[in-house]
Amino acid sequence: MFDNLSEKLDKAFHILKGHGKITEVNVADTLKEVRRALLDADVNFKIAKDFTARVKDKAIGQDVLTTLQPGQLLVKLVKDELTELMGGDVAGINLQGTPSVILMSGLQGSGKTTFSGKLANYLQTKKNKKPLLVACDIYRPAAINQLNVVGDSIGVEVYSEPENKNPVEIAQNAIKHAKANGFNVVIVDTAGRLAVDQEMMDEIARVHAAIKPQETLFVVDSMTGQDAVNTAKAFNDILNFDGVILTKLDGDTRGGAALSIKSVVNKPIKFVGTGEKMEAIDVFYPDRMAERILG
Ligand code: GDP
Repeated sequence: MFDNLSEKLDKAFHILKGHGKITEVNVADTLKEVRRALLDADVNFKIAKDFTARVKDKAIGQDVLTTLQPGQLLVKLVKDELTELMGGDVAGINLQGTPSVILMSGLQGSGKTTFSGKLANYLQTKKNKKPLLVACDIYRPAAINQLNVVGDSIGVEVYSEPENKNPVEIAQNAIKHAKANGFNVVIVDTAGRLAVDQEMMDEIARVHAAIKPQETLFVVDSMTGQDAVNTAKAFNDILNFDGVILTKLDGDTRGGAALSIKSVVNKPIKFVGTGEKMEAIDVFYPDRMAERILG
């Protein structure tokens, strides 16, 4: 995960090693390499530039050059700043409704259906909840089957109405079904398309307005870098979502999405997907991720 970024940052800090005395120029060179590493990870130029500017300000503020171990202090400043860049504190999800309704949004292939299953499994096994999964993709019959397979594998009921072509009705009926049958969490999986289009946005906006979810989550494939960020912005403009789910972190992702999304939409990453199995879900801890990136 983010191996390339870790390696490049490690190299950047090498500049500070082997110097008897560290100079301002050494620090500037290091930060230039840090910025380059971020850009290579597909972080947007402005975010990378602001990042190193903030680290530089702090380094000056803390008189880095006069401390005993300036290299270590600079690594710490970068780590703290990376943590902030990824959201700072860990963000929980709101499960206060009866039932609490969670709406999943995102493009087709982002991992929405898989993540809906993972979240249901997590809530059932770790949080003692009784979740209901809802298939609201009215375009692809295969999507209902896929959710049924997921539901079967974790022992969670799936609500669907294969003949109904109105996703708003399906979602509303599902919530009624949940209330009548003691489900306390309803996870609504919606139709995604390969790219952002008006019809998909209108549809999810209608579902969102009708069911007023406690949590609207935006699912995005971490491998898509800057595209992920642009898609996040488009969905956030329509839904004002509550959090981001970053999937496929087990793949060869450069890290741009994880590092940029918070700055662009100002919403936290809440969970990550780290594989195809139902157990491959983790709460996202910005500080642990920063620690990991810096090795
Ligand atoms: P949807 O169209 O958004 O519902 O996406 P799917 O849930 O069908 O996922 C698309 C593909 O990505 C499937 O082959 C999933 O098995 C795979 N997938 C989903 N999440 C992850 C993940 O965290 N890691 C990996 N490696 N694959 C994933």
